[in-house]
Amino acid sequence: MTKIEPVDNDFFSPFNEEACTLCGECFHNCPVMGLSIEESIEEMKKLIAGNETRRVLKECQSCHSCNFYCPENAHPAELILQRWNEKYKKEGLRIRGKHYMTFYPHYPNFRSYVMDHMPKKTQELVKSWADLSPLKGDTLTYPGCNIITYAELTQTSFFKDLDIRGRLEYCCGETLFRTGYEDELFQVTKRLDKWFNILKPKNLLVLCTAGTNVFKNVLPRYGLTYKFDSIKSYIQYLWEKIENGTIQITNKLDMTVSIQDSCYSKMFGDDYMDLPRKILEAIGVKVIEIEACRENMRCCGIGGGFSVDSAYHTMKLRSATVRNIKEFNKAKVDAVCVYCAGCLATYSTAKKLYFGKFKVYHIIELLQMAMGEKPMSNKEKKKRAKHFFWGIMKKQLPKLPSKKTFKIADLQEDPPPYSEAY
Ligand code: SF4
Ligand code: SF4
Repeated sequence: MTKIEPVDNDFFSPFNEEACTLCGECFHNCPVMGLSIEESIEEMKKLIAGNETRRVLKECQSCHSCNFYCPENAHPAELILQRWNEKYKKEGLRIRGKHYMTFYPHYPNFRSYVMDHMPKKTQELVKSWADLSPLKGDTLTYPGCNIITYAELTQTSFFKDLDIRGRLEYCCGETLFRTGYEDELFQVTKRLDKWFNILKPKNLLVLCTAGTNVFKNVLPRYGLTYKFDSIKSYIQYLWEKIENGTIQITNKLDMTVSIQDSCYSKMFGDDYMDLPRKILEAIGVKVIEIEACRENMRCCGIGGGFSVDSAYHTMKLRSATVRNIKEFNKAKVDAVCVYCAGCLATYSTAKKLYFGKFKVYHIIELLQMAMGEKPMSNKEKKKRAKHFFWGIMKKQLPKLPSKKTFKIADLQEDPPPYSEAY
């Protein structure tokens, strides 16, 4: 296997048609579609010509793995995003996708539904993160939308000194990036620039890998001007604390897991992809790898909603997730370990439709257990999954067959004041 190096500044740059030799390696190796070489070449020809494809434009989950597979560094994933963007601009997005636009507080969305149903104490915690008063130190800890809806994950001794700030409206724009909506991404960076200039952090600690990549490698391409001395992911932070003995493992776990990798770990190279594995080894957890791991990983399932055709169609998301669950079940492990709270939400929600035995833990929960701490209760996790499920279903089901479309509204630089009644 080729050694994966951290991506350079060029990795997300536009498709380079001149470099493409039409070899077909990109979609042939794609962990989602795995097309034959011939079909892959045909699809690439159609994409370059700007024509409808048979599969790629419908099924791609924008994981960016094909950028790694391309021997010519032509960035095939960016061509897909470009075509999606053109299609969206021409046709708009099916109305069923509107409920996924989670950076508008006044439009109820699936995350605001979840937040409305969180325990009062958790709501208070999340509200405290919207604070605009000066930071206590140099570092802003950025929760991201997924941790905001699983805020209990931060209630552990190893995060107690962190100054967490954020709200849904300070979204990093990861899904806009992955769906190719560039204009909207420029609006996101304007809002973020303004917010960072109020809080003036020197360093950014990000509680998810996706956000770490977006802040480091993506947003500077879309107009973010604010400069940090350092941007670090919580996975690096945790490993450093385990290595220097600040985190003490008192209760080694005796279990096996398979890992759901983050779509963005591969952007940081092999050393980064090793980190969750090293943390798990340190706490006594044996990792059984599935085929779709590390740079060949498949998205947890949310990526099944990113194409303009899918427009977050709930059944597309679920079938992508169930495909992964089946592979995890074949590995016969005690549980699946995720290190993105978005993956936790996706799998927990899918359990409502998938009736097989399936346990899923965030790596933070496993670490808490290995330190003798109590993670978020199973009862609360089940409730959260129920609210994710109904937050999506209640709004989307009636709209599934509708052909009506919408365009994403402009994002104002200043989000409205924080509202408890989302
Ligand atoms: S971005 Fe991922 S899912 Fe899409 S074609 Fe490339 S490898 Fe396949
Ligand atoms: S984008 Fe790269 S991998 Fe895909 S056909 Fe062109 S040269 Fe081959």
